[in-house]
Amino acid sequence: MKTLKFYLKSFLLWELLVGLKLTGKYFFKKKITVQFPEESTPTSPRFRGMHALRRYPNGEERCIACKLCEAVCPALAITIESEPRSDGSRRTTRYDIDMFKCIYCGFCEESCPVDSIVETDNYNYHFENRGENIMTKPLLLAVGDKYEDSIAKKRQIDAEFR
Ligand code: SF4
Ligand code: SF4
Repeated sequence: MKTLKFYLKSFLLWELLVGLKLTGKYFFKKKITVQFPEESTPTSPRFRGMHALRRYPNGEERCIACKLCEAVCPALAITIESEPRSDGSRRTTRYDIDMFKCIYCGFCEESCPVDSIVETDNYNYHFENRGENIMTKPLLLAVGDKYEDSIAKKRQIDAEFR
């Protein structure tokens, strides 16, 4: 009986029909394909993309060079050097993130006491030349300036869920 069933299914191309049934089911459904990069899918407010260093509204950089992010980074991707300024405050003289080492865990963001280092929702980036994987302080600050509005919005949504 089992053998007969097997041959009957093979003769009627049963598996092909099952496959076509699935194709037919999705053929008339609303398509979810997007034309990237012209279109993009929505990202979660908790998405962790390209890093940025933020400033206060008066333009002063937030980072106080406490090095908590450097200490907590499991991938050892952050390198910080710092020195006191003439006004006595401490600021970084070097803040590098090696994007090849980063595993986008978000620990740096979590550990920062002044909301300075954050991860934006930007995932549209790539590197073409050797060394571009190191994001330096000026680059990180520039990303922060560019995405400040969306970063602030994301922080607000995060705060509402806490
Ligand atoms: S996201 Fe994680 S791995 Fe990447 S720099 Fe921050 S702490 Fe390090
Ligand atoms: S980014 Fe935040 S955690 Fe890292 S050194 Fe600056 S203030 Fe400290």
